[in-house]
Amino acid sequence: MSSILIIYTGGTIGMVKDEKTGMLKSFDFDSLLKEIPEIKKFAHHINVKSFDTPIDSSNMQPSHWIKMAEIIKENYQQNDGFVILHGSDTMAYTASALSFMLENLNKPVIVTGSQLPIGVLRTDAKENLLTSIEIATTQLNGKSIVPEVSIYFEYNLYRGNRATKTSAEEFKAFTSPNFPVLAEAGVNLKFNYPLIRPHHNEALKLNLNFDNNIATLKMYPGISPEFVKAVIHTANLKGIILETFGAGNATTESWFIELLNEAIKKGIVVLNISQCQGGTVEQGKYETSSFFNKMGVISGKDLTYEAATTKLMYVLGLGLSYQETIQLLQQNLRGEQTV
Ligand code: ASP
Repeated sequence: MSSILIIYTGGTIGMVKDEKTGMLKSFDFDSLLKEIPEIKKFAHHINVKSFDTPIDSSNMQPSHWIKMAEIIKENYQQNDGFVILHGSDTMAYTASALSFMLENLNKPVIVTGSQLPIGVLRTDAKENLLTSIEIATTQLNGKSIVPEVSIYFEYNLYRGNRATKTSAEEFKAFTSPNFPVLAEAGVNLKFNYPLIRPHHNEALKLNLNFDNNIATLKMYPGISPEFVKAVIHTANLKGIILETFGAGNATTESWFIELLNEAIKKGIVVLNISQCQGGTVEQGKYETSSFFNKMGVISGKDLTYEAATTKLMYVLGLGLSYQETIQLLQQNLRGEQTV
């Protein structure tokens, strides 16, 4: 009989409508379980750990990621897989962060939630939770099939650090614009075996030092020198996510180039990702990105915004030299970017 640990953090899946205000608020895991008696039909041993106060995932912080990673580490040997119940708003950030925190992961960590609360008649919560448990416990030759951090939502299993929330309306809340799904749930579970990350021989290692001294600079026509100055002069700033146009392009106005140069000379790491969801940054393809290579802006290739921010926090948290930091950022560490 396989064992699974459910970690309940909050999110719409476990919310009820406050009758007075009409607003959705989290309830405890026992109330959630009452709504889903089917869970008892599994022939698995189901353990549960719950946040003392379940939260809307818009309140999620790196300290919560650490809590989840520590719970997984403490319960790693006793369980074959982990299902994290989480709000969808920041689910892709948590899944990306956990992929960097949990080095040499050999067991499935599936993050799931729902668009409608579990108590609502048309809820998507039941299917999402039950299939996540099924996938987390599915094995082949005594080994879990998906030994990585993933997101399960509306019949699709995504690599966690490739997924992004793209709809606040559809049950299919997530997409993975630059990487195929790891599995599809229909009548059968269809796994995309060649794409799933391999098992490791080394022991699980936790990386908990995330450095949040980062900022995002999103390009838009009309961006002003005052705004860019304010960003690069942020106290203790160590890294900038530069969200550029198309294949990694930005204005070539001299004030912009000078300010960016000033930031890099101060030792601030600049990681270039595209505002487009699909495709990749190709610095030097256009004149409007050729100056980036010369000044040492790093191409974030096809990283999602969620993977870029968490990867930058993770790599900066390692406390490496500037050269080592930019080298590591360019590597594919957990399947988050195409090489
Ligand atoms: N605001 C909710 C949350 O992220 C939305 C959801 O769960 O889908 O916690």
